[in-house]
Amino acid sequence: MEHVVPVRNPFVMKKILFLSFMLAGALGLSAQTKIIAHRGFWDTSGSAQNGIMALLKADSIGAYGSEFDVWLTKDGRLVLNHDNRIDGRSVEDYTLAELKQRRLENGEPMPTLEEFLTVAKAKTTLMLVLELKPHATPLREDRAVKDIVDMVRRMGLESRVSYISFSLNAVRQFIRLAPQGTPVFYLNGELSPEELKELGCAGPDYHMDVFRRNPEWIDRCHELGMKVNVWTVNRAEDRARFMGVADYLTTDRPVEALEEASAR
Ligand code: MG
Repeated sequence: MEHVVPVRNPFVMKKILFLSFMLAGALGLSAQTKIIAHRGFWDTSGSAQNGIMALLKADSIGAYGSEFDVWLTKDGRLVLNHDNRIDGRSVEDYTLAELKQRRLENGEPMPTLEEFLTVAKAKTTLMLVLELKPHATPLREDRAVKDIVDMVRRMGLESRVSYISFSLNAVRQFIRLAPQGTPVFYLNGELSPEELKELGCAGPDYHMDVFRRNPEWIDRCHELGMKVNVWTVNRAEDRARFMGVADYLTTDRPVEALEEASAR
């Protein structure tokens, strides 16, 4: 007589979980994965990361959302930029006037958050995925969060903005200050689904390797009523793995990802 042997090998468990994701997809039980352009749709002619053109191009291809990175300048203005340093100097040590003298790769000036949101509101229907970068001090992050939440309210964009950060302090502040129900996701990867739920997060927005190490976290998040965003999913085989499994897929290849999502 055969006995069912309980599976205890973690490698085998992960294989089984992965296969169950694939089976769920094949049976049509999967999530409708929404595609978010990482730093806008920048990898195309005439565009540049975190620019207004990249935002417009993300909208023009039908992306669900567009992600972008925000800093607070030395003189307390909110601007879009990815790197923490420009020419060896912290972005936080530049004034807005200094940053405005610079040009992005496509020639457009570095946008302020207000300029960016003004265009987003007038000319796009995108979900706006705002990443606040970790700043030099928690106080500067607190100030940035307050100014961002105030600006978004003033501009009537509350239903179109979600917040993400690697800074746990910033995540806590967004949850505290944004209207109840505003999606706030944590990026850094070390918190479990239960810890994220306890914090009041909408869910994880984690690097795909985190879900490779913890494949059960996606189902667990869904059981807890949270959403799952995964980044930065660029290779075809990685997109195939998370398509229909994660709720949101953040990618530098939004055109390909949108085609794959619509073909499912
Ligand atoms: Mg970012």
